[in-house]
Amino acid sequence: MLIGAHVSPAGGLAKAIERGVQRGCEAIQIFNQSPRAWRPTVYREEDVATFRAAMADSPVGAVLIHAVYLLNCASSDRDIRAKTLASLRNSLRAGDAIGATGVVLHPGSALTGAVPAAIKRAGATIREALADSERCPLHLEDTAGAGGTLGRSIDELAALIDACGADQRIGLCLDSCHLFASGYDVRTPAGVDALIAEVDAKVGLGRLGSLHCNDSQTPLGSGRDRHANLGEGELGEDGIAAFLAAPAFDGLACVLETPGEERGGASAEEVALARALRERGLAARVPRRRARRAPAPAPAPRSRRKPR
Ligand SMILES: [Zn+2]
Ligand SMILES: [Zn+2]
Repeated sequence: MLIGAHVSPAGGLAKAIERGVQRGCEAIQIFNQSPRAWRPTVYREEDVATFRAAMADSPVGAVLIHAVYLLNCASSDRDIRAKTLASLRNSLRAGDAIGATGVVLHPGSALTGAVPAAIKRAGATIREALADSERCPLHLEDTAGAGGTLGRSIDELAALIDACGADQRIGLCLDSCHLFASGYDVRTPAGVDALIAEVDAKVGLGRLGSLHCNDSQTPLGSGRDRHANLGEGELGEDGIAAFLAAPAFDGLACVLETPGEERGGASAEEVALARALRERGLAARVPRRRARRAPAPAPAPRSRRKPR
């Protein structure tokens, strides 16, 4: 697993690598345009080349682009849809240019309308955006489930993937805080295993693309998206450890989007904590594996095996 953090590219794209290195990141995530404005940023070739060189010279092995929150692929408003499409296209092209592991996207919102129709609209917008770029995967992020946000369950994510024509470039980004807020209790190995089994059955593990590791300020099933620093929320250190140790997550890029001290984002200490918690979670799984390998118990005496 490549553990890291969301960082700012302010001052130039390569600055994001510098900030990632300062925080001990093996993976980083950036917004590729101002999160508060629609105007897409188009990177110059020299910025891309500097970024790629800086990344190659660093321990950062994966970069994710987070599409900005203004986007709503499911909007029925023509103007919003057009702006969303332009921005998503640009994010995917930027992903192609910088060799991103994926563009992470909140799938959209039905607002107050019907969900199935919204999923259809989101699928159409996403297909159109994908058609206009070459390679970069698109990771649909699960959501906490507030209001009409799409992607609150694995079923909804599976329906969204279908609506995108099951394109091979579509993957999932699973966020521990959002999962928890939408009712998936990922605080225990059993809870995470149940989630993974559901993903496997409904989406396929091959679509696991990336992870967001955040603690949650709000309780299980609250539907509210409020990130907390690792160990300071409802998941707690043990919960984060269990989430990070899921065998199916091995090898994925995993970024922290925590508020940090004074809302400066994850620090080097917190990234190191995430790594230590993953080790703790992996160690906690060992006895379970040993137990499964132990020889089967001797059969019970015949009389006790008769059906009652
Ligand atoms: Zn997230
Ligand atoms: Zn969130």
